[in-house]
Amino acid sequence: MTAIDRHQAPEETPRQLPLLDSANRAFWQSGADGHLRICRCADCRAYTHPPQPRCSFCRSAKVQPEPVSGRGRVKTFTVNVQAWTPVLSEPFVFAAVELEEQFELYVLTNIVNCPVEAVTIDMPVEVLFEEREDVFLPLFQPREVGR
Ligand SMILES: [Zn+2]
Repeated sequence: MTAIDRHQAPEETPRQLPLLDSANRAFWQSGADGHLRICRCADCRAYTHPPQPRCSFCRSAKVQPEPVSGRGRVKTFTVNVQAWTPVLSEPFVFAAVELEEQFELYVLTNIVNCPVEAVTIDMPVEVLFEEREDVFLPLFQPREVGR
């Protein structure tokens, strides 16, 4: 595998884009500079995701988005083969990626840039972003171990 451009866009696939609000904007637009950001508590230092105004662990309101490595592992996944809309024809992988920063810190995402049958539980992955309108969708692709 060659060096991976984190801004590389996979082939165009139809996507329903998230509705941005003050709580989730930092997450969905974080990829503009190539970094995934996850809300982190200034008091207990735990990460909380999906974004919310209070820490899931200590209820502190001192929660701010912070850059994370963008590395993780596939915790679980499913392969969608149903064409739910006329433009959705290719199978895709919907996965829970556990980020390496914290136990059970999951991002729900798609695994891209590999055949759907190659995705496995515990597979090392890394983020890349797909720019659509005003959001940068965090997707994940296979990662060489050690990166
Ligand atoms: Zn906290």
